[in-house]
Amino acid sequence: METTVLGLHHVTAIAGDAKRNFDFYSAVMGLRFVKKTVNFDDPHTYHFYFGNYAAEPGTILTFFPWGSAVPPGRRGTAQATETAFSVPENSLDFWMKRFDAHGIIYNKPSRKFGENYLPFIDPDGLKLELTTSARGDTRQPNETSEVSGEYAIRGFHAVTLTLTDVQATAEILTELLDYQLLERQVNRYRFLNPNVPAAAIVDLVEASGERRGHVSGGSVHHVAFRVANDEIQMALREKIAEKGLQVTEQIDRNYFHSLYFREPGGVLFEIATDNPGFTADESLDALGQSLKLPAQYERRREEIEAALVVL
Ligand code: ZN
Repeated sequence: METTVLGLHHVTAIAGDAKRNFDFYSAVMGLRFVKKTVNFDDPHTYHFYFGNYAAEPGTILTFFPWGSAVPPGRRGTAQATETAFSVPENSLDFWMKRFDAHGIIYNKPSRKFGENYLPFIDPDGLKLELTTSARGDTRQPNETSEVSGEYAIRGFHAVTLTLTDVQATAEILTELLDYQLLERQVNRYRFLNPNVPAAAIVDLVEASGERRGHVSGGSVHHVAFRVANDEIQMALREKIAEKGLQVTEQIDRNYFHSLYFREPGGVLFEIATDNPGFTADESLDALGQSLKLPAQYERRREEIEAALVVL
């Protein structure tokens, strides 16, 4: 059967202090806080999800805030090293002024592949970009009193993976995940998924002399690609296994169903379904307002809530 992949689903990173992470992404960046839940493997720490208004796949940045004692990670090979959001044309001046006002570290806007982008880092050192997509972006943003629709983030534009050698990862992108090589600039190879209008780009950067990255505070833990349903996911699982890669069984993440495998370049990939989505346990207008626990932890709610930082 066809195993159509629909670009990015979400990106998950490690943060330090939970309150600082929450404040930065919801207040400064203006993303919607779409889900407040816990790490299913460690219910005494949060798992945060931020996204666009409708919490659509392809807009979702998630964090495990491990607390202020978490040691910082190191950017390097075998890692997703840059995550780019899509913003409207002519919005970068607004964002630079906003970053100045909030003490956010950024570099001057630059251009790659014909697109303007503003690189910056979050309070944990996670490397991000705001890109004015050349292709336009019709996704409905979250709007706040400080970040109106003419400036607001639309969702993901691209992720960049840094690798010792791009060849084997490029094959995974093109043979399993529907990407096509679009363009190359020096050691950066841009791949596009033609099945979706946005969240469609993966860049591979070849950096043979660089050290291997270390995943901890301020770094990306994994990159999730999107499929429409379980049937497509399980067919894709077979193809991944046929490549000789170790792939997990399907895991229920409450808001999507997941498979994980480490691609040959060392980056942890996930395949996540659209179903059931973030409205599985609360309505669209109430997203993110209360702590959501998976069924196995519901009877421990009081103890779990007491251990979590108040936001
Ligand atoms: Zn994930």
